[in-house]
Amino acid sequence: MKKVVILGGGFGGFYTFLGLRRSMRKRLIDVTLVSREDHFLFTPLLHEVVSDKIRAQSSKITLSDFLKRHGARFINADVVRVDTSSQKVMTDAGNIEYEILVVALGASVNFFGISGTESLLTLKTLADAQNLKTCLYKILRDSSRLCCRIVVIGGGATGVEITAEVADLLAPLRKNVSEIVLLEAMDDILPNTNDRLRDVAKRSLKKRGVEVRLHAPVKKVRKHSLELASDETISFDCAIWTAGVKAVDCDFSPSQSKSSANRLKVLPTLQLKKDPSVFALGDIVDGYPMTAQVTVAQAKIVARNINALLLNNPLSNFVYTPKGMLFSLGRWMAGAEVKTHLLNKVLYIWGLAAWWVWHIVYLRKIPGFRYKLRILTDWLRSSLQ
Ligand SMILES: Cc1cc2nc3c(=O)[nH]c(=O)nc-3n(C[C@H](O)[C@H](O)[C@H](O)COP(=O)(O)OP(=O)(O)OC[C@H]3O[C@@H](n4cnc5c(N)ncnc54)[C@H](O)[C@@H]3O)c2cc1C
Repeated sequence: MKKVVILGGGFGGFYTFLGLRRSMRKRLIDVTLVSREDHFLFTPLLHEVVSDKIRAQSSKITLSDFLKRHGARFINADVVRVDTSSQKVMTDAGNIEYEILVVALGASVNFFGISGTESLLTLKTLADAQNLKTCLYKILRDSSRLCCRIVVIGGGATGVEITAEVADLLAPLRKNVSEIVLLEAMDDILPNTNDRLRDVAKRSLKKRGVEVRLHAPVKKVRKHSLELASDETISFDCAIWTAGVKAVDCDFSPSQSKSSANRLKVLPTLQLKKDPSVFALGDIVDGYPMTAQVTVAQAKIVARNINALLLNNPLSNFVYTPKGMLFSLGRWMAGAEVKTHLLNKVLYIWGLAAWWVWHIVYLRKIPGFRYKLRILTDWLRSSLQ
């Protein structure tokens, strides 16, 4: 059996593992997955953990249990370095040998070196969502509070989704006591969609009492206030940084080709340029959007190519074809850009129809029946509240 080691238990690592199960059953490979956290997290639903529409427990799959059930090994460790000459991965829990390696270590929050931003709340991990939830529920429960201001920095899809969610959550506090501000440095929010959906999102946020401010880059952050490039100071009770991510800088020996943003350069087969026994995918790879949609499509190719390597078959190239995008805008509201193969057209949908599309698409995409059922139960519970 060939030793396959997967680094990272996110979209890239988990979906590659799913694609390798048949080869494992045939005892062609022995798989070990190494990750910092013992869970796979379905990040597109993370903002709903903050508002308690989904319980933290429902948003994750415990990797150690899942892998054990499928005859694979999970190691809960931090990857320190990959030595491709000796085919070893150095972790804080010891060294691991491999014959085929899959690198899917993802990305971390990018603060762009702006002073004080590291102290802000973020939305990348489950722990982040729980910290944010604690902060918001503290505000909600504090009946003596006369006024509160929540600031979200970054008007990409994550920023817009969490802003709408926070607005719904704090709705009982409205009537001049809560203020929600979404700050975007560029000239508009949602850079990856079209003008029509951007307008829908802005109108929907405004209706929920959110002030959307464009051309408002943050210069400095202090304990309870931030300073914009225009020198204006905005005080806040809770500030959430969603302005960007950067690829994890995985240390290789000998070094591998990387872009200026430290993203790994790969061949169309998703193998490293200097070492065909190493595959890389997801946010850590250069040349593709940093989305789960891309990563899941790449994972299918990586699994297929590992199976092809085992059987000495030719490898496939990864070709990215965008399928559209979805973003939620709180209760009963969403935006969707859907590519239809039948009509060969892009459909733009919003409102309640898009809300249904959002829920149906994600329910279909969530891996496994048990996981789907947990999420569906949580959605039903929160809709009836
Ligand atoms: C809040 C949020 C919402 C999102 N919504 C969408 C969406 O709606 N649609 C969409 O397409 N994309 C969305 N994304 C983007 C999507 O989550 C990423 O593109 C995707 O997760 C990338 O997969 P990955 O495997 O490269 O990285 P990840 O899924 O982040 O997995 C990386 C894994 O590696 C582990 N790791 C990192 N460093 C180390 C280390 N040194 N040692 C050990 N383990 C390590 C991490 O703990 C993690 O488990 C969203 C992201 C966030 C944060």
